[in-house]
Parts: sequence; C-alpha cells; structure tokens
Amino acid sequence: MTDEKKQELLRTLPSVDAVIQVEDMEALMKDFPRWFVLDCVRDTLDAKRKEILAGDAGANPASEGLTAEKVALEVGEKLRSSQRFSLKRVINATGIILHTNLGRAVLGQEVLRNVLAVGGAYSNLEYDLEAGQRGSRHSHLEDILTRLTGAEAALVVNNNAAAVLLALDTLAKDKEVIVSRGELIEIGGSFRIPDIMSKSGAQLKEVGTTNRTHLKDYASAVTDNTALLLKVHTSNYRIVGFTTEVTLEELVELGREFQIPVMEDLGSGNLTPSAGDMIIPEPTVQDKIKTGIDLITFSGDKLLGGPQAGIILGKAACVSQLAANPLARALRVDKFTIAALEATLHLYLEGGEALMRIPTMEMLSRPVEEQERKALALAVMMKDCMGEKLSVSVSRDVTQAGGGSLPAVEFPTAVAALTSTALSPEEIDERLRKAKIPILGRISQDRFLLDMRTVQEDELQEIATAVKQLAEELR
Ligand SMILES: *Cc1c(COP(=O)(O)O)cnc(C)c1O
Repeated sequence: MTDEKKQELLRTLPSVDAVIQVEDMEALMKDFPRWFVLDCVRDTLDAKRKEILAGDAGANPASEGLTAEKVALEVGEKLRSSQRFSLKRVINATGIILHTNLGRAVLGQEVLRNVLAVGGAYSNLEYDLEAGQRGSRHSHLEDILTRLTGAEAALVVNNNAAAVLLALDTLAKDKEVIVSRGELIEIGGSFRIPDIMSKSGAQLKEVGTTNRTHLKDYASAVTDNTALLLKVHTSNYRIVGFTTEVTLEELVELGREFQIPVMEDLGSGNLTPSAGDMIIPEPTVQDKIKTGIDLITFSGDKLLGGPQAGIILGKAACVSQLAANPLARALRVDKFTIAALEATLHLYLEGGEALMRIPTMEMLSRPVEEQERKALALAVMMKDCMGEKLSVSVSRDVTQAGGGSLPAVEFPTAVAALTSTALSPEEIDERLRKAKIPILGRISQDRFLLDMRTVQEDELQEIATAVKQLAEELR
C-alpha cells in the first residue's frame, strides 16, 4: 500500500466522539462505566490505526470505509466479552483424569457443598470453640490425616512443591541432602528437584547412577554436614531394565544408624490400595508411614482427588519444626482448601462405596463397558447430524491417569472418533475447543477422539450439541 493510500485511510477513521455518538453506544454507557467504554473505543481505534500503518488494511477490505457504526459494533462485542469469565468450565474428553492443564482433580458434590457452607459464612478457621480462644487453622486437618494414615503429625500447605520447599528449608538449609541420581526429577510446571533444592539453600549431593543406586552409595556419601536422606517418587517416568533402587525400608534403617532424618516426596500419594475393582499399583501413604520414615509429602489434587494442597505427614518432632518455620505462614492454605480437603478426607474415612463419590476414584475405576455404553449413547445422539462431511465411530482405546500419577499404567477406555472429509483432526480440535462450552479431546492416528473415561453422563448432550453445530457449519 502506498503512503498516500495509508494517509487517506487514516483520515477516514472515525473519531472517538463520532463513535460515542452512535445510537447503540447509549445502552453500553448505561451498562459499563464511562471510562471503560472510552478506553475500549480508543483501543479499538488504535488497533485500526496500527493495522493501516502496517499495510495490513489493504488485505482486509473491512478496514476500508470504516464507519463509526462498525467501530461501535466492535466495541460492544469487546465490552460484552469482558464480562465473560476467563477461568471457566471445560469438557475434558482427553481421557487424562489428572490433567494438569485442565485443573487436575474434579471435586465431588459434597466436597463442593462444604466449600459453599464455609465460604458463604463466618467459620471457626482460627478459633477454638471448646476453649473459647484463638485456635490454629492447621488443627482442622491434623486429626483426620493422622487417623487415616497412622502418622504422628500432619501439616498442610499450598501445594506439594511448597511442602518440599518447606521441608528442605527447615531441615537442610546450608546442609547436604543426599538424593539418588535416578530420582533427580523434573515434573510439569517446572518443578525440578535440583532447583527447589538450591532455592531452599540446601546442597544437593547426588549419589549412584541414573539406573542403579545402592545403599552403600548413600552410606559413603554421609558426612557431618548431611541433614537429610531424600527419596523422590519418579512420578512421570520409569527406569526399566538393569536397575537397582534402594527400598524405603533400607533407607530408613540407614537414617536411623546415622541419626539423619529420611524424607520421601511421594508426588501423588494414595490413601487407598483399591477403588471399586481397580487395584492401585502403588504403595499407600499408610505403607510408607509404617516404615518409620520421618517425613513424607504429597499432593492433595493428584490421586487423592481433593483440592490443590501439599500434605506433610511424619514424626511429630519433624513436622513441628516445619510448622514453626516462618515460611509455613507464607505457604499456608486458605479456608476453601481446608473445607474441600476435610470433606474429601471424610470420604476416605467412610471408605467402601463412599470412595466412588470422589470423582478421581470413580473415573479411575470406571469399567470399560461403561465407557463403551457412553460412547455409543453419544454416537446415537449425534447420528442425525452425521453425513458425508463428518462421521463418528466407536472403538476401544487406552488412556493414562495423568498428572504424573501411575505413569506405567494404561487404562482401557472407549472413544467416539470424529473424522471429516472437510476438516483435519487439528481443525476439528480447534472448532470444538472454541465452542461455547469448550471441548478438549485428543488426536491419535489422524482421528479426533472423544475419550469417555473423563466425560460425565450429563456432558454427553453438551458434546452432541456442539458437534451438531459443527456439522451444520460444514453443510
Ligand atoms: C507433582 C509432584 C510435585 C509437585 O506437586 P504440586 O502439588 O504440583 O506442587 C512434586 N514432586 C513430585 C514427585 C510430583 O510428582
């Protein structure tokens, strides 16, 4: 575009005043504060100006003959979209139960009711109703956690990364922590053991090799400056083949010999050996505590199926040191987390059928026949909109727990696969992701899959509606 043409286009841009004068703007001025409307008008006009100067406007005939009415329309759309929430519900049809990008654990109905009850009123968060005096927010979870796990003491902080940081800062600042080279993990969201170690001021002392670490490696690395023997759950990977790993029992024994505390970062941490017919192929938190370990930490929103939290369990002497660290105040949990976690733990205390009211447990143990029934039901709901351009088929597949939990375990599932002659799987993915209620699936072997393991019964209709809409657009 020539400079002259650009100047001409710039001259035809309506003024802020002209936009404000448009009739439709009157209603917007009533619904939104004046400064906000004006900001939006200026932003919109600025963007147009930049577009013209960059020469993009030529390719976009819409920016020619731009009237005040057209700008007002755009401003109205912008203002209205500002009222929509940024954080919102989506439908998870990826099959990954603990999807870190999709909010990890889904909370159960009674857990949500408790959050609502506590959040919508005053509470005894830090008030001891028995004694009639100031209490501790930590008291609400300690009893139930120690009862469930057999640990002497418990403390809950903001997340598991915070729990590990607090433990290292308290027990090992300026001292050495011995960790196996096979356990120097990085998990999603940039949590890396070496980094969190240096942030806490502890010195990492690596021992052994990637695939084999022996007890004597730990023993010969101990010095007067060793503060902690640390085990880390290799959450999101497995070392297989020619491997040796020191058991927790052996490490606890060694710690006792040298009088050095032993800690394990469990990552997920599960409180039940099985849910429904599903056996969880990992030692439970209770098993870990039985070894006599000094400290363990794990997430509240991984296998546990509760809110984001970092649960610290162990020997009273150790846990009380952590609680007294000023950092514990900075990492403390809020009342919503306590309410949600306490209600989740109540379901574990009840056990049996109650576990199925924890969505994570229900989804993990959902039989494949159930998934298949859902996939077929979904296909039936969508069938009258299917044709040349969009078709659906039901098949079996496998899925993973996600969130770094149970990395080597594959769960059988059923999927409704969408294929199209008009759209690539990536395009189907994009269209459904941008639907009114966003739907996230996964692409495998050139098919867009809706995995039923993570889809709830009442979401089937919503998916069908979005797919029908898509089919209509293709017509
Ligand atoms: C997930 C995980 C963490 C971090 O837990 P968050 O609750 O996400 O902070 C730390 N260590 C291990 C081994 C993990 O798997």
